[in-house]
Amino acid sequence: MRFETRAIHAGQDPDPATGAVVVPIYATSTYAQEAPGMHRGYEYSRTDNPTRRALETALASLEGVPENSGGGAVATASGMAATALVGYLLKPGDRVLLPDDAYGGTFRFFARVLAEHGVAWSAVDMTEPRLLETAMSPDTRLVWVESPTNPLLRIVDLERAASVARAGGALLVVDNTFATPYLQRPLELGADLVLHSTTKYLGGHSDVVGGALVTADAELYERLRFLQNAAGTVAGAFDAWLVLRGLKTLAVRMERHCDNAARVAAFLAEHPAVAEVFWPGSDDQRDLAARQMTRFGGMVSFRHRDGAEAAAAVSAATRLFLLAESLGGVESLIELPAAMTHQSVAGTPLEVPDDLLRLSVGIEHADDLVDDLAQALGGP
Ligand code: PLP
Repeated sequence: MRFETRAIHAGQDPDPATGAVVVPIYATSTYAQEAPGMHRGYEYSRTDNPTRRALETALASLEGVPENSGGGAVATASGMAATALVGYLLKPGDRVLLPDDAYGGTFRFFARVLAEHGVAWSAVDMTEPRLLETAMSPDTRLVWVESPTNPLLRIVDLERAASVARAGGALLVVDNTFATPYLQRPLELGADLVLHSTTKYLGGHSDVVGGALVTADAELYERLRFLQNAAGTVAGAFDAWLVLRGLKTLAVRMERHCDNAARVAAFLAEHPAVAEVFWPGSDDQRDLAARQMTRFGGMVSFRHRDGAEAAAAVSAATRLFLLAESLGGVESLIELPAAMTHQSVAGTPLEVPDDLLRLSVGIEHADDLVDDLAQALGGP
């Protein structure tokens, strides 16, 4: 079955008890047993829950995990809970290579939490495979990649990163939040583990916080399931249900996000108040992006020609683009990463320009979005 069909049907057979077409929200903490240990597959909802399991089955299918591989997905309470689970794979003395352009919370977790538990980190420009090769050391256990990156939307060659990580005996984790499996499937390009903040495009409606990890490696999947239960970082049934509902329309939403973002990127590139536009479809990275993504995604960032204050004024002047953190919902958002999502990386190798604005381009009418940016940017 094709992606669009699996998004609606994978893991989502009619409910065996009632025939309900939509997977029910199994709001239960525990399950009756006929005799100690004799149950129908579920014991306790931290360990497993049918609504969460439906979401995990759907996510594994969409990320291209082969059915008989023994791999799968674990759904977590947030994207950061998924990151924390990855952290449990590491031991004191291990090293993580982090991108020098990434979600600030990911950096904060490794640099300010795991570092206190003896896990070392280095920041690397992952868009330069040679720099990644040079940064690999015998203690490197994990290479963390985002592509497109947050907030500069740079593209990392995932096949190259996978082969460098593999040659060095490290796992490659790809945060696929910005691309979604509709546009890019890192496991098929050699990654060991895919991470999602399902809060974003997968949920798609800015009404839920969630996360997930997906792998095609049976041993790694078993370890993650053990850790998910042991650490308790699970997605609740209602949250899992919201993400599952979002998944059903992922393909159609992403097409419109991509159309609108392309239109907005073209408008910004011509605007005199804009110094630089960052978009996966820009000339400097279009070829690589087109090799590993089917389209260029719904995110666009740009620098204001007149500096940080002018950028902040634009973010306050848009009417349709709401000034808010997060991304990937149907509504358009604007934010100033240096003062908002990326505050925690000030003074680190991940610091972002203070005149940078990041747009999550929604699925409204493209003309309305361009009109809104035009009035906020001013000029002719
Ligand atoms: N990864 C990326 C690329 C993100 O943008 C975010 C959040 O903004 C996260 C991970 C963390 O996800 P969550 O906010 O669901 O914990």
